[in-house]
Amino acid sequence: MIEIERLTKRYGDTTVVDDVSFGVEEGTITVVVGTSGAGKSTLLRMINRLVEPTSGRVLIDGQDTRSIPEDDLRHRIGYVIQGYGLFPHRTVAQNIATVPRLLGWDRKRIADRIEELLDLYQLDPAEFATKFPHELSGGQQQRVGVARALAARPELLLMDEPFGALDPVIRAKAQDDLLAIQRRLRATIVLVTHDMEEAFHLGDRIAVMDQARLIQYGPPAELLTRP
Ligand code: ADP
Ligand code: ADP
Repeated sequence: MIEIERLTKRYGDTTVVDDVSFGVEEGTITVVVGTSGAGKSTLLRMINRLVEPTSGRVLIDGQDTRSIPEDDLRHRIGYVIQGYGLFPHRTVAQNIATVPRLLGWDRKRIADRIEELLDLYQLDPAEFATKFPHELSGGQQQRVGVARALAARPELLLMDEPFGALDPVIRAKAQDDLLAIQRRLRATIVLVTHDMEEAFHLGDRIAVMDQARLIQYGPPAELLTRP
């Protein structure tokens, strides 16, 4: 459903993403893995057009993202970054309600969706809906960040080092939670990490980047590099 075709980004004479192509099947997790500076974030940000490609294109359900208005694209593609980007002066419920409100969902539908997402993440709505981000642990903030990104059922969720700020024990739990929720909601995810172990744990497909190029792509069992 998502086709990434020959995406290339140059800054001056430097090519930071070089002719990268792969497809992302609906309901799967594709993990883009590679060392720092390999071009992973730039690739991810070209998918939602936060970065304009020098050449190449991205198709969502056959539709070129260039023909999709930017507002629509923001709703159709969720985005989670390290640090989660929660609005500090909005409650958990208000944070999760952000995109559904922009889309004009009615109050009942928004409240039901918030409850469903908090339940999925085992955060009791009665306790957590009215809390502010600073009242949450890092792991809880991470979960609310994902819940917010999934709220309006985006066709695609992009995650850039979403567990980078978590300590190892909480990170393992957060990875397992994400997998469970992804399977449950059949979400389509492209996740960026520098952690090969995380890639093998989460990826239905793994795309290995090195120095701007895609050097390997496939299901974990078929990759040459093992963690
Ligand atoms: P990764 O996510 O794999 O660490 P990035 O996509 O962040 O890699 O960066 C890849 C390369 O592109 C790096 O060398 C980085 O310095 C460079 N780069 C990223 N954004 C810009 C920019 N706006 N202008 C110039 N160079 C950039
Ligand atoms: P505002 O004052 O901006 O309307 P609220 O905190 O009252 O903010 O509500 C934000 C959204 O979250 C609303 O759509 C509301 O229905 C929903 N909401 C608030 N509390 C809960 C809760 N306990 N469970 C589920 N949804 C909730």
